[in-house]
Amino acid sequence: MLNDPEIDQQHREFARKMLLAYSLLAVLLLPIYQVLDLMWTDRIPSLWWSNAAWRALAVITALFGLLCVFRRQDGQGAPLMLRLLVVNVMLMMFGLFISNYFAPDGNVTLMVNGLIIIIFAAAPACLRGARELLLIFGVPFVATLLLMGWLNQSFRDSSYVLYNVVTSLIIALIISELLFRTRTALFEQQVELRKSAATDPLTGMNNRRFVEPQLHSEIARARRYNKTFSVVMADLDRFKRVNDDHGHNVGDAVLLLLAIRISETIRDEDRAVRWGGEEFLVLMPEINAEQALLAAERIRRAVSARPFEIDGLSLSITISLGVAEYAGEDNPETLIARADKNLYRAKDEGRNRVCADPS
Ligand code: GH3
Ligand code: MG
Ligand code: MG
Repeated sequence: MLNDPEIDQQHREFARKMLLAYSLLAVLLLPIYQVLDLMWTDRIPSLWWSNAAWRALAVITALFGLLCVFRRQDGQGAPLMLRLLVVNVMLMMFGLFISNYFAPDGNVTLMVNGLIIIIFAAAPACLRGARELLLIFGVPFVATLLLMGWLNQSFRDSSYVLYNVVTSLIIALIISELLFRTRTALFEQQVELRKSAATDPLTGMNNRRFVEPQLHSEIARARRYNKTFSVVMADLDRFKRVNDDHGHNVGDAVLLLLAIRISETIRDEDRAVRWGGEEFLVLMPEINAEQALLAAERIRRAVSARPFEIDGLSLSITISLGVAEYAGEDNPETLIARADKNLYRAKDEGRNRVCADPS
């Protein structure tokens, strides 16, 4: 199984949705049972209050669950809260079962039905599948049986009821495990798909699709915090010649080696992507035009400083770069257009150079 923060995030979002659904169900359904208890008997039995106490435990947890759902939109804490809710609902159900079992006017059949409902309801909510359900339901179930054995109790005329609970548990374990595995595989596929859609297969760099949303969020950040950032557009010089003279495979190898040189030259915070063909874009957060010019110059030197060695060939390659710093009214298109304009000025002025807006 992949261990990936994006997959963890998917699990958290799933947990948050489940927490919302289960908290609402608990808050709406449990009080109805409490009212039904009242209608089924003409007087309030002593059990009515203990039933109310067990149900209140679950309802209060569900209210905290709702609080967690609405306060943490990103799903932080949702898996823990969902587990707490499921555990408390289990506790409630076993508490109801035991207190009804030992009371002379207790409704054992209703509570066994409750146990069965809870088993199936919990199956999809167990985030780690069967092992979690086994822990949450199996342990209190066995503990209850041991307690009853210890108290020398036999199931009143109802060993078949016990059989129903065990059968339900086995079915629910299988459902829970299958759902868990299907869900995890689906999350992994989604993340893989998103990554491969944002990655250029030749260089392994991210592509334009990856950087476009980043440009938007960088602009939003710059506007909000009154910060700046820059972009550098780079284009290989006379690359067509490399292809024409040595073939496309050598051209591809140059692109791969170039991607490595660019990545090695920039800061960790900068994002270099293959914009298309033999054009690369570097997004430089918190960097003004002056600093970006220096960074672009470093890239230019890293490319021209030593030849590219490919299959015994030694190719002298140069690159031209255009710099643009974010200006208050920019959108991604206008910013890129200015970097492009500067790049073409660098080409016009003889290539193997960096150009920025005149200051
Ligand atoms: P200039 O200095 O003006 O940029 O000249 P240039 O030859 O680099 O410019 P031009 O845009 O005319 O040519 C770009 C070439 O890049 C054309 C195309 O064959 C090549 N190219 C684009 N993508 C790839 C690729 O993925 N692999 C290879 N091998 N070549 C590519
Ligand atoms: Mg080009
Ligand atoms: Mg070119």
